Amino acid sequence: MEQDLKVLIVEDQAVDAELCEHELRRAGLSFEMRRVWTRDSFTRALTDFPPDLILSDFSMPSDLDGFAALGIARSRSPETPFVFVSGTIGEERAVEAMKAGATDYVLKDRLSRLGPVVKRALKEAQDRRSITRAEHALHDSEARFRSFMSHLPGRASIRDRDGRYTYVNQVWQDYFGLEAGDVLGESYGAVWNTTRSAELKALDERVLESNQPVKRVVHHGAGESATWSLAHHFPIPGTDGKPAMIGAISIDITEQKLQEEKLERLSHIHAVLSGINSAIVRIRDRDKLLYEACRIAVDDGDFGMAWIGMFDSATGAIQPVASAGLLAGEKTETSALVVSGPPQPTGLIARMLEQGKPAICNDMVRGGSPSERSAEAIRRGYRSVVILPLKLGGQIAGCFALYALEPNSFTQEEMKLLMELAADVSFALEYIEKDQKLVYLAWHDPVTGLGNRTLLHDQLTHAIQAAQSESIAVVVWDIKRFRVLNNTFGRDVGDALLREIGTRVERAWPGLACLARLSADYFGGFIEHGTRPSDVAHMVGHTAASMSQPLTIDGHELRVDTCAGIAFWPADGVGADVLLANAEAALKQAKARSEPYLFYEAAMNARVAEKLRLENRLRHALERDELVLHYQPKIHLATGSVSGVEALLRWDDGSGALVPPSQLIPLLEETGLILEVGRWAIAKALDDRKTRLAMGLPAPRVAVNVSAIQLRRPDFIDVLEKALGDAGAEAHSLELEITETILMENIGANSLKLRALQDLGVNVAIDDFGTGYSSLSYLSKLPVSSLKIDRSFINTMMDQPQSMTIVSIIISLAHALHLSVVAEGVETSEQSRVLRALGCDEVQGFLFSQPLPWHDCLERCNAAASIPGVD
Ligand code: C2E
Ligand code: CA
Ligand code: CA
Repeated sequence: MEQDLKVLIVEDQAVDAELCEHELRRAGLSFEMRRVWTRDSFTRALTDFPPDLILSDFSMPSDLDGFAALGIARSRSPETPFVFVSGTIGEERAVEAMKAGATDYVLKDRLSRLGPVVKRALKEAQDRRSITRAEHALHDSEARFRSFMSHLPGRASIRDRDGRYTYVNQVWQDYFGLEAGDVLGESYGAVWNTTRSAELKALDERVLESNQPVKRVVHHGAGESATWSLAHHFPIPGTDGKPAMIGAISIDITEQKLQEEKLERLSHIHAVLSGINSAIVRIRDRDKLLYEACRIAVDDGDFGMAWIGMFDSATGAIQPVASAGLLAGEKTETSALVVSGPPQPTGLIARMLEQGKPAICNDMVRGGSPSERSAEAIRRGYRSVVILPLKLGGQIAGCFALYALEPNSFTQEEMKLLMELAADVSFALEYIEKDQKLVYLAWHDPVTGLGNRTLLHDQLTHAIQAAQSESIAVVVWDIKRFRVLNNTFGRDVGDALLREIGTRVERAWPGLACLARLSADYFGGFIEHGTRPSDVAHMVGHTAASMSQPLTIDGHELRVDTCAGIAFWPADGVGADVLLANAEAALKQAKARSEPYLFYEAAMNARVAEKLRLENRLRHALERDELVLHYQPKIHLATGSVSGVEALLRWDDGSGALVPPSQLIPLLEETGLILEVGRWAIAKALDDRKTRLAMGLPAPRVAVNVSAIQLRRPDFIDVLEKALGDAGAEAHSLELEITETILMENIGANSLKLRALQDLGVNVAIDDFGTGYSSLSYLSKLPVSSLKIDRSFINTMMDQPQSMTIVSIIISLAHALHLSVVAEGVETSEQSRVLRALGCDEVQGFLFSQPLPWHDCLERCNAAASIPGVD
């Protein structure tokens, strides 16, 4: 012992005490000693000098004897060894003393025993002390364990290595409804069903093997009765440090879990809110924004699906306009769910419309008879849905539908956020609508719904920049007396009139781009195709006629007259500003001169007017028999004989002079009259020939010119066949002249048509040869019989060596292809001689004859022999 012992000796004899002391020191003990001999000093010393050992004499002269001291010591310091040291102690007293709690006794005359006795007593006391301490500790620990376990807010149990329960706490018993007495000592096989005991067994084995705790979150039940607990299985080591038992603690965390989920959902909705708010700031397009809102709800909000529908006031139905989200489990689009709803909203949507607030269904399965759409959502695994109203100007304008897989997804707190969300989307809708309205008003006329001047100007500028066609015509109209009508019948009638005019113009002139209302009674538009002045004039006339049809508005029968101004790009200006200004200037002129329309370029007015007059008269030319055919002979150079005649169209318009084809043909082509006239020319030529034959006289072959418009017609061959049949003519007496340019225009289709002609026996000559860009390979394949060298080459061949070269090449080329060559426009005998020398087969021209009426021509032919230049 490190520390000195405290030895209290009860002895009246100092010598005796010294002897004892001596004896103890001899035994090797180190100590401090105090001697007392009265009751008072003894009891005081027990506290002042708490002894590790008490030595006591038996009998003393004072108020204290050995037994009394023992009694006091036992009650005050029961653990301290008490040894009697006495000169006299009988057997009986010794037994008595031991019974009373003395540790031992030593006789004064055998004082040498004192050392060993004291040592043993001290050791025993020491041992006793540590045992009680351990007992106390064990007891304490046990008590602590039980208290701890009874206060543990969870189930606790301990099983031994064989799965027998050795401890279960009260919570455990309450939770499972089992008494400790029923389970302690039983293995889990006897307590649980096979599944659970197998599960526990596996778990215990895992813990025992790894000597590591296993933590898990256990989920029980579903729906509202669902619970979660945090289970902790851990090894409890035995004395050898190896796992001897398995402890299990399971704490119910259902509440935390629900709270956590709720917080998570709320934070998702917060994310949706902020996402949508930033989308609102970014996106100006309604449909794009609505789609984005759906996408954010699905991607950030963890809603399985979202769609937005807008209220269609015409049908009363909510029509889905945006959606996002995949179906539960499937990777399919939501399309089947966002098909148009029924004409009359039903279910939740109807409820939302009726009450003007969100309609929630937190358990779609038990929610009663679902709408078709909800039934589909249920089929796809959704359990909760909310239909949030979207408002515009205080009215319900649509809905935002959100679907969640879990039932009871929409709690009060969630709804607060979701309402905020709906309000934000509504705000955006309102904002966009206003924005669009502003944009609309900036570009449109609110009365007619047509564009305004800005829009026309803008679109015209675009058209000019794109320059899809060679010219653009800008037309501006004025509604005559509109102000008077407006003042007389009132604004409403005036507005209705303007709308009707807009409709009529659009209907009458579908090709007109961007019809706009420029000012109170000015309308304008432009066209990019059909911009020939006469065509434009036509359409302006046609449109004016349509506008002037009487109309009834509000019981008033009205009639409007219009006049128009027209300007062309690029002739009348290169920019939209100038063009519009010039068209309006032309319009003012037209108004001032009471013309139905005027072109900006003054000269054009005259030209167009002339043309239109001509056109108008031309329409009656056929029926009035004013068209005639003149004929010009073709001379065979080798023999000087007439090989045929070419029919050339003339118009005797009664003015005295004949209108030449150069003016006539383009007009006929523009008006489409060429088809009728072409048919007539073929029939007439064949007919002229037939009357001649009927007189028993020989008649030359006739060649008739064919226009591109005729050739393009799919019924071209039929028409021809019919003409031949009607005339009872032989096909080979007819030749058709088609210009090189026309033939090459659509070589594929045309060669088929030429082949059909060839099959009929009709010859084809390529007219105006040399002016186009015939490909030799095509030329060799085309079923034609002759080439007519264009007059321009013949005209210049004597002066320009290139022309001569070309003429000579054409002749040898034609011969190589077995085609005969005709030179047209031969005016001099010099030309005729050279052509003959070059091997040209036939000639045609003023040298031999002007085109002449049929009979004159035939007479001229009879005199062929005397034709100059032919020898
Ligand atoms: P084209 O087929 O090349 O006809 C020949 C033209 O040359 C005719 O002009 C004729 O009068 C003219 N001509 C003939 N010899 C001479 C000459 O020595 N000197 C000059 N300077 N001219 C001569 P025309 O009759 O005015 O016809 C012009 C064009 O009109 C024709 O050219 C033809 O392409 C077309 N054409 C005439 N009649 C018809 C018709 O019935 N149908 C179609 N589609 N086109 C026709
Ligand atoms: Ca011709
Ligand atoms: Ca010609």
